[in-house]
Amino acid sequence: MNHKTGAILVLSGPSGAGKSSLLNEIIDDIGECYFSISTTTRPIREGEIDGIHYHFVDEEEFTKDIEEELFLEYAFVHGNYYGTSIKPVKEALKKGKLVIFDIDVQGNATIINRLGDITTSVFISPPTLSELKKRLEARSTDSQDVIERRIDMAKREIQRISEYDFLIVNDNFKEAADTLRVIANAARVKIPGNEINDFVREWEDI
Ligand code: 5GP
Repeated sequence: MNHKTGAILVLSGPSGAGKSSLLNEIIDDIGECYFSISTTTRPIREGEIDGIHYHFVDEEEFTKDIEEELFLEYAFVHGNYYGTSIKPVKEALKKGKLVIFDIDVQGNATIINRLGDITTSVFISPPTLSELKKRLEARSTDSQDVIERRIDMAKREIQRISEYDFLIVNDNFKEAADTLRVIANAARVKIPGNEINDFVREWEDI
């Protein structure tokens, strides 16, 4: 079967769960991907580059994009707006790429609602809350106040893991990466309803 329509892989989980490190570890083994760059109103962190980690905009610009319906999904997270623009996602899907999103639980719910047919979702969790706190403090990019907010958020997010297809507890980095590699490759061959119908029809023609 020819998966020309592409597929979506959603990764969620608290900042500090290790999503980006895991993705970096497997990126060369999962075929052609497009990593969706979100737009956000959050202030840029040290080491981040505009247009690579996020498109950093002000609230006025973000609200304008909402009104013009340019977002596939958007959400208010930790006091800031975050959103996924439709256009690059559509183009990548048309090219048959695996589109990868690092978005929160609200974003995942919207994507499943709109594109559930071609979506596989994974929740990546740190082993414990105290480990998460340790990682966030070691990263030292956020103030204590922000860290507390992220911990609270993590507690709330973990309540919604049943909305995901898979849970990876990032306790052992290598094992977690191996599992994610398998899931990402499987996401490409998930059977979307419309496509399987075409496939069955082709079979009947033979
Ligand atoms: P951070 O500020 O640490 O980069 O991200 C904070 C949270 O926002 C993370 O949980 C991340 O997954 C989420 N996030 C980033 N981009 C988007 C987006 O475009 N949409 C949604 N819904 N969440 C996002």
